[in-house]
Amino acid sequence: MKKITLLVLMFNMIAVLTFAQSDKKTIKKTITYDEFKNHVYYIASDELEGRDLPSKGLEKAGEYISNEFKKYGVKQVSGLTGYYQQVPFKSVEPANKGSIVVGDKTLEYEKNFLLMDGSNTELNATYVYANYGMGDDLKDLDVEGKIVVALCGNGEDESPRTWFGLSTDKKKDLKEKGAIALIEIYQSAQLPWSMLTRYFTGNKRVMVDDGEGEDTDFAHIWLSTEDKQAVKMLQQKDQAMSITVEGMKVEKFTSPNVVGWVEGSDPVLKNEFVVYGAHYDHVGIGEPNEEGDNIYNGTRDNAIGTSSVISLAKNIATYPTKRSALFILFTGEEKGLLGSSYFVENPPIPLDKMVYCLNIDSGGYNSTEIVTVMGLYRTTVTPLIEKSCKKFKLKVIDDPAPEQNLFDRSDNVNFAKKGIPAPTFSLGYTAFDDAIFKYYHQAADNPDSVDYDYLYKYCRSFMLTARSIANMPEKPFWTEGDKYYEAGVELYK
Ligand SMILES: [Zn+2]
Repeated sequence: MKKITLLVLMFNMIAVLTFAQSDKKTIKKTITYDEFKNHVYYIASDELEGRDLPSKGLEKAGEYISNEFKKYGVKQVSGLTGYYQQVPFKSVEPANKGSIVVGDKTLEYEKNFLLMDGSNTELNATYVYANYGMGDDLKDLDVEGKIVVALCGNGEDESPRTWFGLSTDKKKDLKEKGAIALIEIYQSAQLPWSMLTRYFTGNKRVMVDDGEGEDTDFAHIWLSTEDKQAVKMLQQKDQAMSITVEGMKVEKFTSPNVVGWVEGSDPVLKNEFVVYGAHYDHVGIGEPNEEGDNIYNGTRDNAIGTSSVISLAKNIATYPTKRSALFILFTGEEKGLLGSSYFVENPPIPLDKMVYCLNIDSGGYNSTEIVTVMGLYRTTVTPLIEKSCKKFKLKVIDDPAPEQNLFDRSDNVNFAKKGIPAPTFSLGYTAFDDAIFKYYHQAADNPDSVDYDYLYKYCRSFMLTARSIANMPEKPFWTEGDKYYEAGVELYK
C-alpha cells in the first residue's frame, strides 16, 4: 500500500515536472521565428491595405486566419459559418445639407438643426406645438398628418442622453397617432450645440447594425435655439412648414469575427474555456506621410497580436491544454470595439463557461526588455504571467499610464463588463512618449520597422502565459475589490 502510494506520488511528481517543462517545449516545437515573422509580414503587408472595416484587405486577413486554423485542425464552433461569426454593420454618412422653411424664416442644417433619426427627407405640412410631446400634452391635440414641435426631454431630467432616450418613446407614440415628423427644441448647458454637431456630422461612422434607428420614414430633428425668433414662432402659431434633409447615405455590410476552438485534455476542466483574443482590423488607408506612404499597416496594432493568437492556435491544436481554448480575432476594434461587443452580446458558447479572456493588443513599444500588461494585478494569475515572461528573459510591468485608460480601450473590456477576468497583454512600454506616437496609428507602422528578436520572445511569453492559465488547477478570477469583481460573482454564481 505504502509502496504504491509512493510510486504514484513519484509518477505524479514526474508528470508535474515534465508538464512544466513541456509547456515551454511545446512552444519551441510548434512555432519557429520565421513562421511567426511571416505571419506578421503578411498581415501587416501593403497588400492588405491597413485592414480597414470594411475593406478587401480585412477580408483577406480573415481568410488567412481561417486557413491557418484549418491547417492546424482548430475546430469550428457550431452555429457559426465555418470559422466566421458574421457581424452585421452599417456605415452612415450623415446628412450635410437641408433647410426648414417656416413663415419668413429659413433655418439651416447644422447651424440650426440636425437629423437625429430618419433619412433624407422632403416634407411639406402643418406643424403643431405640443409642449414636451408626451402624455397629457397630446390630449385634445390633432397630430394626424402633421409635424409635431416639442421641447426636448420631460422637464425633469437635464441630460441630453436621457432626452435622446425619451425621444424613442415620443416617436413611437406620435407615429401611432399619425404624426409624420418630430422636431424637438434643444437647449442644454451640459452639451453645447457645437459639440453635438461635431458628433452628428462630418465623417462616415461605422456601427453594429442592431436594427435600431431604422425609422427611415419618420424624421426626428433637434433644433438649436440659435434663432430665437424662429423658436418663438414655432412655439406660438401653427402654420405650414417645409423640411428638406439631404446627403445621408447608409450602407449595410457584414464582416466576421474569426472564431475557432480546441477541446481541453482534462475531463473536468475541458468544460471551461479560456478565450484568447486579438483584433485583426486596423485603420486602413489615410493621409500620406513625408515619404508618401499612405497605408497604415498596423504592425504593432495589431498584426503582432493577431500573429500571436494564430501561433497559439497552432500550439494548442497540437498540444491541447487542460481547459478548452477559444480563439477569437475581432473585427471592428478600431471603430469602437464593435466586433467584441457583438460577440459578448451574441456568444456562441455561454459566457459563464468562459473563465478567462487573455487579450493581446498594442499601440507600440519603447522597451524590448519588458512586457506591459493592462490589468496585471487585477486578476489572480499575476505570478503565472511573471513566471512565463521570465522564461524568455522579459520582465512584466503594469500599465504605466493609467490616465490613458488603456484597460478600457481594447476588446478585453467588453468581456470584463460581463464579469470575465480579462487583461490585455501588450508590447513593452514605459510611458506614452514620442517613441510610441511615432508609430501609433501612423503610416510608419510598417512590418520592417520592428525588432523581431524581441517580438519572437514576446509572442512566446504570451503563449506560455496562455498555457499556464489554461492548465492552472484553480479557477482564475478577479482580484478582490476590483471594479469588475462583483460582475464576476454575478456571472459565475
Ligand atoms: Zn489595437
